[in-house]
Amino acid sequence: MRLILLGPPGGGKGTVAKRLHAEFNIPVISTGVILREAVEKKSKLGIEVENIMSKGGLVPDRIILEIIKERIKQEDCKNGYIFDGFPRNIEQANSLEKLNEELNEYIDYVFYFEILFSEIIQRLSTRRVCKKCSINYNLSFNPTKKDNACDLCGGELYQREDDKEETIKNRLKVFAKQTIPLKKYYKEKKLLKVIDANFSENAFLAIKKVLRGMHK
Ligand code: ADP
Ligand code: ZN
Repeated sequence: MRLILLGPPGGGKGTVAKRLHAEFNIPVISTGVILREAVEKKSKLGIEVENIMSKGGLVPDRIILEIIKERIKQEDCKNGYIFDGFPRNIEQANSLEKLNEELNEYIDYVFYFEILFSEIIQRLSTRRVCKKCSINYNLSFNPTKKDNACDLCGGELYQREDDKEETIKNRLKVFAKQTIPLKKYYKEKKLLKVIDANFSENAFLAIKKVLRGMHK
């Protein structure tokens, strides 16, 4: 099963992706997580993208495509994958389509996470991420049991550089301009399922229902 999770920053894609992984045992490919790891490691890639990311802009398509090509060739992607944060513009979607054709594998569904913009700002400004396992928490509605330590692995929590208010606004602008057109793009390809993402539990259940139907 090959899935794309599409939606605004703070829409809960990452959280839902992790739950889908636990449920269906399919790897999650999150370009954001891969890029942040590179920045953390100060690798060549990390140095190249750090500045763009901290401003909330999009990393160049050629870099993203290289990451994706490498990743989906790996053994664990044989039975599918869940894209979280890719594709993010029409160019990337076209490149993915070409790549899929070459490999003779196809996307089953694109889930669009519909969420109120007012909700996004609230969620992002109080979001915290585990340094070790990259799971997300929220200071207001999903805090950790112990202050500043991940419930799962004990890792230290931090606020993403791009979760500061000015950057959030720019990310939303970029999203509106570059990523929202993908909704129409995938609707025309009859792959789109719109999910109410105002509550992440509901989003997970709605997606699970669609996917369970696939196996019947
Ligand atoms: P969010 O969905 O919360 O904005 P991500 O972790 O998906 O967060 O992405 C964080 C940043 O990484 C983006 O703002 C962008 O700079 C970069 N990035 C991630 N995925 C892509 C992509 N597919 N194309 C271009 N840039 C990307
Ligand atoms: Zn952790």
